[in-house]
Amino acid sequence: MGLFKWRGYLLMSKIVQFSTIGALMSGFVDGEFDFDAHKNEKMFGIGCSEGMNGELTISNGEAWEATAGEDVHKISKKLVPFIQITNFESENSFECDFLDEENTASILKKKLNIENVFIAINIHAIFNELKIRTPQKSNSKGRTALDMVNEQDVSSLTNIRGQLIGFWTPEIYGRISVPGFHLHFLSDDKKTSGHVLQYHANKAIFHFQVKNTIEIKNPTNKKYMDMSINVDLLDSLISKVEK
Ligand SMILES: [Zn+2]
Repeated sequence: MGLFKWRGYLLMSKIVQFSTIGALMSGFVDGEFDFDAHKNEKMFGIGCSEGMNGELTISNGEAWEATAGEDVHKISKKLVPFIQITNFESENSFECDFLDEENTASILKKKLNIENVFIAINIHAIFNELKIRTPQKSNSKGRTALDMVNEQDVSSLTNIRGQLIGFWTPEIYGRISVPGFHLHFLSDDKKTSGHVLQYHANKAIFHFQVKNTIEIKNPTNKKYMDMSINVDLLDSLISKVEK
């Protein structure tokens, strides 16, 4: 029984990712990955909805969608173009003071050498400052990642209680996932969510879990098969859009 549980745990401990940040930034925004088919109560992660119309934050098996000008809601279209999920188990946690987007890596580096591993990150705090981004909904099929950025909504919030959810990705995987931290926010009351740009908390509780395996599922449709990805353009876009 114990062994069975342990093996099951290992199987679920990988990161499952649909598509790549490279394909997303190059315009693959068709919904294809079936979120519901992978759903379980431990599911945790980040993604975006079809057409890059919303930022997704997945907590306890529910995907919350944040779109500019709309209330945060459970995802309505279950087929998504990009997602990074795992079963999160807090294996390590600690409390820290004065956490912000500048010092998060150095705080984590005091606990382990993070340079070569994927890490699932979950940070709970009352953020005295938080800046998040949500995309505008677009019906235009041809919207590029750059268009999306130019149309994004940035909110500056104060004294908000919630959690940061996401991943640390080593630099060498920087065309597969966003290199460094990619974090989304979900408030405890589930009314505020989005892609995290900046934050500050006087006290925070940090949970993390090293993820040794990542499984990448590529899209299968013709658009994906036929698309050409300009990696030089892509690198500049990723640093502009996602960092
Ligand atoms: Zn994001």
